[in-house]
Amino acid sequence: MTAKILDGKALAEEVRGKVAIEAARIGAQLGRKPGLAVVLVGENPASQVYVKNKARSTVEAGMESFEHKLPVTTSEADLLALVEKLNRDPKVDGILVQLPLPEQIDSARVLNAVDPSKDVDGFHPMNAGKLATGLPALAPCTPVGCIMLAKKAHASLAGLEAVVLGRSNIVGKPLAQLLLQENATVTIAHSRTKDLAEVSRRADILCVAIGKPEFVRGDWVKPGATVIDVGINRVPGKEGKTRLVGDVAYDEAAKVAGAITPVPGGVGPMTIACLLVNTLRAACAREGLTPPSI
Ligand code: NDP
Repeated sequence: MTAKILDGKALAEEVRGKVAIEAARIGAQLGRKPGLAVVLVGENPASQVYVKNKARSTVEAGMESFEHKLPVTTSEADLLALVEKLNRDPKVDGILVQLPLPEQIDSARVLNAVDPSKDVDGFHPMNAGKLATGLPALAPCTPVGCIMLAKKAHASLAGLEAVVLGRSNIVGKPLAQLLLQENATVTIAHSRTKDLAEVSRRADILCVAIGKPEFVRGDWVKPGATVIDVGINRVPGKEGKTRLVGDVAYDEAAKVAGAITPVPGGVGPMTIACLLVNTLRAACAREGLTPPSI
């Protein structure tokens, strides 16, 4: 069997196209463009690239981007003051504080300071709690992207066995909640799980977010299963260069799976597209407008 490739780049482009249309509608109703504020502290090279890409995608979708770049020496009090200012700014519909933050800053305290109605990352405990109890919530972008990709392989996820490897607050747990909302039968596995391979082989949908390069082998995948690989790992490549791989041994898994996301070009591009969707959702919820149909 050769798996269908779930092309995250193409799907993200489709989503961004819909975002642009909805941003224009919502902008006309608001009398201003929907706005996303992104805060970067320090000069982590990967974070700089993410922030640049987020700002570019925001502008390309016809939305306002507010970039705040602070020095690595920024104090927690100064960062909290900026978050508070953005919370109060009526032109800002969504706030994203890029992680990781420098060690003098308590990330949890900063994330908890973001107004939950502007929390487009979906990391605030208020949104996590709403998601877990089935209330309308801003859900984390990467898991939302995973669900969109899984739906490219399955008309409905209802009744399917879904196994999520990884239980982080950013990916694993919210992804499990979203799969539950889709009526999948969900198992969450982690570093203490006994016989991970056996658990994985139960999955009709196997979602992997553990941060270990090519950890999941081909014989962990049930024939015909859908594999969603969230992992992004930089490993040594040819001629002293590096290359990106997922948490799944792609070549092996693609021979067994029915559908699979590549790395790069799978889940990664969906994250920014879903961030834009969340910004529109946040704007509509706060302003009492019809939510975007994306
Ligand atoms: P975390 O490090 O926060 O969590 C990793 C999870 O994997 C933990 O729950 C941990 O278990 C589990 N785990 C680690 N090692 C093993 C193991 N050997 N066997 C079973 N479970 C294990 O990672 P994140 O959730 O933040 O990210 C996961 C991956 O996804 C990373 O590669 C990251 O780069 C990528 N990522 C990609 C994004 C995208 O846009 N595509 C966005 C966010 C993340 P335990 O809890 O027991 O320690």
